[in-house]
Amino acid sequence: MNSTATCSKCAFFDLHSNGIQTPKQDGLCRFNPPVSQPSAQDHGLWPVVSTNDWCGHFASGSTQTAAE
Ligand code: SF4
Repeated sequence: MNSTATCSKCAFFDLHSNGIQTPKQDGLCRFNPPVSQPSAQDHGLWPVVSTNDWCGHFASGSTQTAAE
């Protein structure tokens, strides 16, 4: 795997995470819909990934800017 194909450079990486507090180097993977909705009142969960993680679904490009 190319070492530049990391979550931080992936189109599906969401650093801003809608107010969800994660460690600074973490973000959410938006490749799949949220999972594990324990009850109707709860929200589904997006997988938390680190900037230097990667997976086989990597897509180059970013959908966001740091100022968003
Ligand atoms: S886990 Fe895969 S699809 Fe999700 S942000 Fe990282 S490289 Fe992209």
